[in-house]
Amino acid sequence: MATYRITVIPGDGIGHEVMAEALKVLKAVEGGLSGPRFSFQEFPAGAKCCQETGTDLPDATLDACKAADAILFGAAGLPAVRLPDGTEIRPQIKLRKVLDLYAGVRPIKRYAGIPPVLAGDPPIDYVIMRENTEGLFASEAGGARVGDYVAVDNLVLTRPGTERIVRWAFRLAQQRRGAPSDGAHRVTCVDKANIFQSMAFFRQIFYEVARDFPGIQAEHAYVDAMTMYMVQRPLRYDVMVSENMFGDIISDLGAGTVGGLGVAPSGDIGDTYGLFQPSHGTAPDIAGRGIANPIAQILSARMMLEWLAETKRDPQCAQAAQAIERAVEKTLIDRRNHTADIGGTARTAAVGDAVATAIQKGK
Ligand code: ATP
Repeated sequence: MATYRITVIPGDGIGHEVMAEALKVLKAVEGGLSGPRFSFQEFPAGAKCCQETGTDLPDATLDACKAADAILFGAAGLPAVRLPDGTEIRPQIKLRKVLDLYAGVRPIKRYAGIPPVLAGDPPIDYVIMRENTEGLFASEAGGARVGDYVAVDNLVLTRPGTERIVRWAFRLAQQRRGAPSDGAHRVTCVDKANIFQSMAFFRQIFYEVARDFPGIQAEHAYVDAMTMYMVQRPLRYDVMVSENMFGDIISDLGAGTVGGLGVAPSGDIGDTYGLFQPSHGTAPDIAGRGIANPIAQILSARMMLEWLAETKRDPQCAQAAQAIERAVEKTLIDRRNHTADIGGTARTAAVGDAVATAIQKGK
């Protein structure tokens, strides 16, 4: 039975609150005789860490990320703590670059029980693949500001960077069940190729890669139209792939269509390392009150187990991931387990308890 070293970075704000519940749930899946084991080690990063130590990502934290089997991240950054250029502290973006976590995997899935957002309560189930290391974020900390007159950020796309994210999207579509509307295995390139050279380049590479996947339907949509389609006909979509900034925006929109950021997990994955964190930020407006929804963090832990199952070829991790998925489904059916963001009154810890109990009962 394998023991996996997990580097835990709660970060700032509600990061601490939701992380406690994800760890509770991981401890619940590890209990059985044959289940995977975890060794959790917590490390600091983020805005508070920067105030206390002068750096938002200490060397010890980065070393621990490199040494671990996987990284579980909460959320980092606080509006009141800014860098001299006026931007927020963001160790998570630094980690994406340093560890080359190029694939932002963002499942958008509708769970029964959550009050419907869209008319007819469509059973939405698609994945947004956000390129994580290039695009408009490539100039992060590298944009220029000239006095009070000019500010510039650069959008950078490379052929290898685009190819690898697009390839990932097609491979993912091969493994999935297809779009809910028609079962078609489909990858949709979300771009703005009618206006920008960089996006025309992205789309050109998309269709080049698509030739290697004849069984998968390849199509494109402009990002502005896509924001409408995601509301009007979300069941058409199976896998989407997009540049970094567009991926960032459409993943929040996608989350909104299934209940909000509180239920939207994500994985930042590369060829060597995997970091798993909710799509949401530190939610300073509700931090410290015990009312944050921990489901996104718990589902991110589930994604971590799926990734460990694949990379370590460990079926026990796959079983543990499925146990979390079933327990979350069961928990969300009962409205008493809904936090305020999805219309309920449950507290963060009570939701974590409910998921952990459902896992214990399912053993
Ligand atoms: P970032 O830029 O770091 O992603 P953000 O500025 O987009 O952060 P969030 O911190 O994600 O903002 O919060 C956006 C809104 O969603 C806030 O109103 C916040 O309270 C709410 N929210 C985010 N996460 C949760 C959660 N887990 N539970 C409940 N509400 C949440």
